[in-house]
Amino acid sequence: MQANIVTLPGDGIGVDVVAEGVKVLRAVAAKFGHTFTFENHLIGGCAIDATGDPLPASTLDACRHADAVLLGAVGGPKWDDPTAKVRPEQGLLGLRQGLALYANLRPVQVFLELREASPLRPERLDGVDLVVVRELTGGLYFGPRKEATPDDMTAYDTMLYADYEVERIARKAFELARLRRKKVTSVDKANVLASSRLWRRVVTAVAADYPDVTWESMLVDSAAMHLLRRPADFDVIVTENTFGDILTDEASMLSGSMGMLASASLGAGSNGVYEPIHGSAPDIAGEGIANPLATILSVALLLRYSFGLGQEADAVEKAVADVIAEGYRTRDIYTAGMKRVNTEEMGAVVCQQL
Ligand code: NAD
Repeated sequence: MQANIVTLPGDGIGVDVVAEGVKVLRAVAAKFGHTFTFENHLIGGCAIDATGDPLPASTLDACRHADAVLLGAVGGPKWDDPTAKVRPEQGLLGLRQGLALYANLRPVQVFLELREASPLRPERLDGVDLVVVRELTGGLYFGPRKEATPDDMTAYDTMLYADYEVERIARKAFELARLRRKKVTSVDKANVLASSRLWRRVVTAVAADYPDVTWESMLVDSAAMHLLRRPADFDVIVTENTFGDILTDEASMLSGSMGMLASASLGAGSNGVYEPIHGSAPDIAGEGIANPLATILSVALLLRYSFGLGQEADAVEKAVADVIAEGYRTRDIYTAGMKRVNTEEMGAVVCQQL
């Protein structure tokens, strides 16, 4: 196939890890006979520096016309002033809204060989294979808000949802569960929040259309606990924007490192934004030691969900599993006796394995 991919490396380690993702895409194109073209654009802090805007119109426009978008990360100490009017994250939020990407899929898998890198006891990690489906364009991050001012030191954010927003994300979760172990856990805070009571009512109605999928509702505080106590019991978790943001970082610890987790942000069409769940990691930026595997696994999701290339996606995921099995480790997942590699070397061994 022929496809145009927009790359948005962003800031910090985003630049290093996207370079490795592109390397893997080129290797896939060569191996399977596809033609992928790449177009690089600015987002986040680097876009603020160059244009004053974290999401320049030219970036959004290119993403709208692309077949898929591969993103690194945005942000860093240089742009961290919480009172600043323009902030790097606005680039991300604007991109998700601009492309109407309402579903964020975050698979969490534990590689057997990396169990030691997790702070959890290894036996807790047996069989962990779950996906968090996070609602991405509504909820607490997008509802009406008010900043505090010197004259009025009150502030609020609002968790606002309409039924159609809950319905479309719930359907994504049930459809996905059908391709997996056929179990959905809907996470809310229905004992306290009105928006969660709407969430639960809509999910209950959607579930009736999927009698082959078992499902449950769980309060978010309880879900936070069970994710650590019995993580292997979860298959598909569907939840509100903020709850999903928090639970996915918690879930990332099951796999040992933020550097291992991929994500896909999808809307109604086939275009999507694929990115590692980690940030720009200013503490290691510029050192060339970031783990590119989360980005490379995001490339696999890109191939599967935007291009429908399941075989190619499987091949990338297998190559990652193989290099881990062979002992290649970046610093974040390194344990004694393993083969230590930097960012570029990890990308190279994955390509070689492919
Ligand atoms: P972070 O994910 O950047 O880093 C957290 C920790 O994990 C750090 O110790 C970092 O070194 C490590 N880490 C992250 N990714 C890694 C990788 N690929 N390989 C090895 N180690 C890795 O989160 P943070 O420190 O809270 O945030 C740093 C900046 O990133 C902030 O400006 C924040 O706003 C931004 N951020 C951006 C995104 C995004 O672009 N999607 C997400 C989260 C945070």
